[in-house]
Amino acid sequence: MPTVFNWHLNRDMEYPYEESRPEKQFAIVFNINRCIGCQTCTMACRNTWTFSPGQEYMWWNNVETKPYGSYPHNWDVKLLEKLGPQTWDGDTYSGETIFEAAPAGKRVLGHMPTEEDWAHPNIYEDTPAGVFQGSTELPEHSLWMFYLQRTCNHCTYPGCLAACPRKAIYKRKEDGVVLVDQSRCRGYRECVEACPYKKAMYRTTTRTTEKCIACYPRNDLDLGSRCVVGCVGKIRLQGWLHSPDKSDPDNPMDYLVYESKVALPLYPQFGTEPNLYYIPPRWAPRTFLKQLFGPNAEQAIETYKKQDKKLFGLLRLFGTTETIISKFEVTNTEAIGYDRSERELLRVALDEPMYIRPEYDEKYAVSRLNEP
Ligand code: SF4
Ligand code: SF4
Repeated sequence: MPTVFNWHLNRDMEYPYEESRPEKQFAIVFNINRCIGCQTCTMACRNTWTFSPGQEYMWWNNVETKPYGSYPHNWDVKLLEKLGPQTWDGDTYSGETIFEAAPAGKRVLGHMPTEEDWAHPNIYEDTPAGVFQGSTELPEHSLWMFYLQRTCNHCTYPGCLAACPRKAIYKRKEDGVVLVDQSRCRGYRECVEACPYKKAMYRTTTRTTEKCIACYPRNDLDLGSRCVVGCVGKIRLQGWLHSPDKSDPDNPMDYLVYESKVALPLYPQFGTEPNLYYIPPRWAPRTFLKQLFGPNAEQAIETYKKQDKKLFGLLRLFGTTETIISKFEVTNTEAIGYDRSERELLRVALDEPMYIRPEYDEKYAVSRLNEP
């Protein structure tokens, strides 16, 4: 089996195919701290791609309440249990990946959810863990939960692609988006079992697998994916990630992932090098966050709390435009976003002025209350 480099694990690993990185990689950063769990993203995706017969239980985008929520049910717990000890030696993963732990006759260690597992997409919504101990002081709340936004990770080393015996799954060279060729797929469901994030889904009416396509027809026009553009909480920023050795500090994704290191991958220990990144929630137990996001979770929270000017400015560009921001700049007063042709898209003030209205409005002879 070829050896490839996985920068999330900081080491080489085995993978069935040679290392091949796209020119630029589709990526999204989610600021978990801002998510309100409204599911607008979920419905934006659903209304675009999965509203037809056979797709009733297919939610390419979902938002689950951690620690108990999971779609399909217990998707992560079941795989974590099978994978066994996942240990880090500093920044280097010393446990096994799902490829290295594959059982005889398989290329990937996976598990197959039952129909019942798929049937309750928002199980345990808003269900917290812990016991309230009289205060909500940081760094860790005693009673806690957070929303985890999930779509296909368009992994650099996809488990779904590795497992497909028909070579029906491929990764686009131009943007790293992972797609299923419907004409080649025979519905063996090896990918459903192998995707550690359970984002390859079987459709009974066509007897093939379908999955998130990153809204590539929109991305090809430089427009953001539906879940990103529709996000009410403005927690999502989509862009193009370079290879780790070609990081550009003025590229929003590169800055968040490689430069500031405030955004982290979900379950890096699986070994697929996923390309969705998360700014961890400040209030959740660190041991849990380290299991989800790797050993740098605490450091990412510290960086987020400090928010130097460049990071503060970039965070203000989240959710501000339908066009993908390829480059950004932060001055003393504004954050500025540019498209891929380096045309200016928008400017956002770093400090917004605040106006306090007089309680009594003489013009209309009415009294008004200001919001505190
Ligand atoms: S998240 Fe799953 S379906 Fe998506 S590319 Fe990775 S392994 Fe494949
Ligand atoms: S639309 Fe945005 S804020 Fe609402 S649930 Fe989705 S990610 Fe969270």
